[in-house]
Amino acid sequence: SLARPWLAHYEAGVPHEFTPSDTTLPAMLERAAARWPERTALEFLGARTTYRELLAQVQRFASALQSLGVQPGERVSIMLPNCPQFVVAFYGTLMAGAVAVNTSPLYTPHELQHQLQDSTSQTLVMLDAFFPRYQEIAADVDVRRVIVTGIQDALPFPKNILYPIKARKDGTWVNVRAGGTVHAFKPLLGRQAPRPAPVTLRAQDLALLQYTGGTTGVPKGAMLTHRNLVANSEQARLWMSDLREGQEVTLAAIPFFHVYGMTVAMNLSVLTGATIVLVPNARDIPMVLSQIQASKATLFPGVPTLYNAINNHPETPRFDLTSIRACISGSAPLMLETARRFREITNGANLVEGYGLTETSPVTHVNPIFGEQHEGSIGLPVPGVDALIMNAQDEPVGPGEVGELWVAGPQVMLGYWQKDEETARTMREAYGRRWLLTGDMAVMDEGGYFRIVDRKKELIIAGGFNIYPREVEEVLMTHPAVMEAAAVGLPDEYRGESVHAVLVLRPGQQVNEGDIMAHCRAQLSAYKVPRSVEFRAELPKTAVGKILRRQLAQEAREAREAS
Ligand code: AMP
Repeated sequence: SLARPWLAHYEAGVPHEFTPSDTTLPAMLERAAARWPERTALEFLGARTTYRELLAQVQRFASALQSLGVQPGERVSIMLPNCPQFVVAFYGTLMAGAVAVNTSPLYTPHELQHQLQDSTSQTLVMLDAFFPRYQEIAADVDVRRVIVTGIQDALPFPKNILYPIKARKDGTWVNVRAGGTVHAFKPLLGRQAPRPAPVTLRAQDLALLQYTGGTTGVPKGAMLTHRNLVANSEQARLWMSDLREGQEVTLAAIPFFHVYGMTVAMNLSVLTGATIVLVPNARDIPMVLSQIQASKATLFPGVPTLYNAINNHPETPRFDLTSIRACISGSAPLMLETARRFREITNGANLVEGYGLTETSPVTHVNPIFGEQHEGSIGLPVPGVDALIMNAQDEPVGPGEVGELWVAGPQVMLGYWQKDEETARTMREAYGRRWLLTGDMAVMDEGGYFRIVDRKKELIIAGGFNIYPREVEEVLMTHPAVMEAAAVGLPDEYRGESVHAVLVLRPGQQVNEGDIMAHCRAQLSAYKVPRSVEFRAELPKTAVGKILRRQLAQEAREAREAS
């Protein structure tokens, strides 16, 4: 039997035993539309859609896919920012029995081509502004239908943005070199039967391919079922025991095409009848701030770099952010400094850190919202989740010992799409459960709270000592001039590797390499102190806002070699 010290904290009506509803995402939306028909489901730049209207649009989208010949089980790639059409296309794809493939709007033509080919998607739904990137690779992929939409399709006012290509009156598009028939979103939906032909959908059916580098860096599609995705929304809902159904307002700034935004900002809202306030670009901080104020958002899931950017933006003090009640920070380590300042500027919003991966839909751990929180910890396994810390011999270790985190639960993926070897390397049967090997080094305390020490592969080894970048970054962030920090390993003749710090300073601040090293020396053992410091105007980040440490390391290596 497994040791579960975290059970001691389960109380106040939150059970650890958990069986997900035997349902699908479209059924979850139908239930929301029946329960809260007149409640605003989507709010986008002033335009509102009720749950009843959202369901009607989703049904029309499903009809449209059927009329274009999309079969159940086929993949439909969706390349959209957060906008109403994303929600319509996502749920509509699933209602037609097809499999959604979330596609990053930041993809280059080459990356888009790889994902379309790997997922063998024959249908692509995309924003008009991204269309030129598709055109570059259209002749090389087997896409038969492209559905193009513009932001203005979601707004009540007339079109005022030029389409990159021209639409015919019947809604098909011209001037396309190759790559299937192109359809305009709005007219296409307009001429559909209001209800799709019924499709048999079961909870265990595949719903989504969510691409990730995982622990090996090779891009691959995590296969997530309806049950996985419903389960994770329900687990998050149980955890947020004081969530008021049909009353919350979720600020959706983190992108839906990333698994974290999809579950915590979109699906959890649909499950609980929350209004989703769609922010198409989370990098536009004044836009995020004004949306919080205007919508009186109550829930604000985010990532550390987003909270940090809000903390440091010169316009932040002009906005009223006090409506925010609860925030879950996930996807990357939350620096204590970031959390402290954010609570201050929101007048005490309950900001808790959670953890998860693409492969787990994503949430597996969160700090208790109802109880004791441990700073710097990712909290406890959420209902239905078991977690182990394993040593290099694949044996479980006890509290206080660092090892790889393994997780099991109803939100764990089926495996990777057409990548059996990668699947076998990442999943294990043991103790009567299916475990996902996270590739993260973690430690559990006596009370069952977990802390991520770092990613296995980002470890820096200097003179035989292990250095976890996060520990160095925590110290760098406490320097008053520092706004963002990353620590990476660079080749070092004597030590094998040494720590290189890359910093972004707060506006108007000046500091030199020596100051930073002295600050670190006061708090870290000598071998962890950065040997070199680089200052930048900004740090490269992924679409969801994770700092790209590997890219920084490579650029620093190249700069050194060139000098
Ligand atoms: P992704 O599949 O892109 O969501 O990335 C998952 C990875 O993000 C995990 O394996 C962790 O390395 C990292 N991660 C997520 N949440 C946290 C957290 N709270 N603290 C530290 N790392 C995190």
